Amino acid sequence: MLTTRQQHCLNGIGIDVWTERRATSVKKSEAEPVAEILSTAEMEGIRRFAQIPEPVHDLPLANISSDENNASVDSASAVVEVPLRLDSWDSIIAAIEGCQACELAQNCTRKVPGIGSRQADLLIVGEGPGHDEDIRGEPFVGRSGQLLDRMLAAIGFTREQVYITNIVKCRPPNNRDPKQFETQQCRAFLEAQITQLAPKVILSVGRVSAHNLLASNLPVGKLIQQMHKLPGTEIPLKVTYHPAYLLRNPSAKAIVWQDLKLLHQMLQ
Ligand code: URA
Repeated sequence: MLTTRQQHCLNGIGIDVWTERRATSVKKSEAEPVAEILSTAEMEGIRRFAQIPEPVHDLPLANISSDENNASVDSASAVVEVPLRLDSWDSIIAAIEGCQACELAQNCTRKVPGIGSRQADLLIVGEGPGHDEDIRGEPFVGRSGQLLDRMLAAIGFTREQVYITNIVKCRPPNNRDPKQFETQQCRAFLEAQITQLAPKVILSVGRVSAHNLLASNLPVGKLIQQMHKLPGTEIPLKVTYHPAYLLRNPSAKAIVWQDLKLLHQMLQ
């Protein structure tokens, strides 16, 4: 049974079919000018590195399914209803633009669905839009975004060649962490984006992204130590530090550099 609000939401985005789903419950930053991610010597290293041929990854296309065993369902939000028609990029973007499912959607300036190539091999998933992203409607355009661009450049990519999105598509007020209910409401959008993109590899940046994608509570410092797969799929998933964390802790760039080199190898 649809509520009035849901009916209104559906009408607003031209969707007429809704279904009930179990919640895919998941358990679940800047003080200096944008720093160079790499020194000249490191850049020289990547240029040399780029000459080395690497194996091609041939990955199946897959849908996300939640890890029921790890899921702890919040009783207040145990059932989430999502539109069924998220089966094309246009319908996904329209659904995000029309969504009013939580407080974030009701209070943001602009929705931030994602940006980049819809044929990209690399999907980058952050946490949620900040102040600048909320105004521009584009992910990672603030200081963290500038550093992310430099990280991508270090492995030969522009932001137009990858796809960048977030766990939640609307700005959490005062840059607080998104609440579990909010990430649950947004999850179908990210699932649909991953299904459409079928990326060769996912780069999960930061704690909120990693915890949601992996349904884990382990510290990023632990999750970063190994390669993962997106639960329920064969898609490799690398966790790394969030650019905002790197702005505060430049010494962690050395670790991120190792992750970038790994990604570069995988994407050859
Ligand atoms: N931080 C994020 O996680 N995402 C953005 O889009 C911007 C900053």
